Amino acid sequence: MTKLICQRILLKLSGEALMSDVGGSIDADIVQRLATEIKELCDCGVQVGLVIGGGNILRGAEKASQGLDRVTGDQMGMLATVINALAMQDAIEHLGQPVRVMSALKINQVCEDYIRRRAVRHLEKGRVVIFAAGTGNPFFTTDSAASLRAIEINAQLMIKATKVKGVYSADPEKVKDATFYPRLSYDEALDQRLNVMDTTALVLCKENNMPMRVMNIFEQGAIMRLMTGEDIGSLIQ
Ligand code: UDP
Repeated sequence: MTKLICQRILLKLSGEALMSDVGGSIDADIVQRLATEIKELCDCGVQVGLVIGGGNILRGAEKASQGLDRVTGDQMGMLATVINALAMQDAIEHLGQPVRVMSALKINQVCEDYIRRRAVRHLEKGRVVIFAAGTGNPFFTTDSAASLRAIEINAQLMIKATKVKGVYSADPEKVKDATFYPRLSYDEALDQRLNVMDTTALVLCKENNMPMRVMNIFEQGAIMRLMTGEDIGSLIQ
């Protein structure tokens, strides 16, 4: 059996991670590839909780800036995360990996309601749990939902998926000489307003000693390499 650095993780994917460059909100090939990576982790005994955003479909704040009521916009955003979660559930299930979507909003003809003890039980049984509908409350983000669920399920590590190597002093796609930070504290991330996650999510992790790895998961096999001890991305703790 492969030696793992941790048994239970919470992986946060943004909705945009499911999009391809050519457009369309959900790219089947990308979802399939991510599902395969997740299955590989499960096959090695990692318990995987997943939070997927909804930004590829809709963001409440953007809709509010166009005149829609903010709470309604956020409810639409939370439903968008359910759509993404169902797409991911389908792809994971097709690989023969047991998986459940648990929603913070009650839509139990579509998926299970989020009940913490039941979620932990699923994880213990080796099922992937996809936490949908964020926190279930408007004015929050799925980054905050990911921090919250990571803490609730006693994950040993939260992984925030990005398109770049990890945390930088500035956006490396815009600033050529941005500094890469392999290690940093939550205070540094908060004080320097580094673009990692929103403040609520960072504070939750800081106050509950939840370590976070920010890394490019679009590099094939990267999470598995991290799980087996390779130092990948940035570690915030
Ligand atoms: N949202 C919400 N409460 C939550 C999580 C999400 O109201 O707890 C809404 C909010 O409108 C947000 C949208 O769902 O803009 C999609 O989530 P997010 O922007 O975090 O997605 P990501 O950027 O990760 O794709």
